[in-house]
Amino acid sequence: MEIEILENAGALVNCSRCGIVCQIAQTANKEARPLKHAAKEGCCVACALTGFLKLELEIEHLLPPGTDISEALKMPHIQQQFGRVFIAGQSDVTLDQINWERVTSNWDLPVVLKRRGRRS
Ligand SMILES: [Zn+2]
Repeated sequence: MEIEILENAGALVNCSRCGIVCQIAQTANKEARPLKHAAKEGCCVACALTGFLKLELEIEHLLPPGTDISEALKMPHIQQQFGRVFIAGQSDVTLDQINWERVTSNWDLPVVLKRRGRRS
């Protein structure tokens, strides 16, 4: 794990997707995958998770057709699965930092996240 000290720690920035005010974290794990703390600008935790779910995990293809994704994401056993993914991926985020209500209420906002590197 390679921890990066963030120069702008404590600065307030707006989430580039939903606009909520966020504070730059003190540190980021360079190898965090998914969900690494942003150094300058980026998304709030809820929007970053949404981007991961939509673009990288392609969650709509993992669930049975017709599944209400918002309802699925409110289920504790589904959320626990993500908690395990965060631990395995050395994520900067823990399950208790996720505001699932915010994830689902903003689900339909466009996702315009930069991809980090190539998918493998
Ligand atoms: Zn956001």
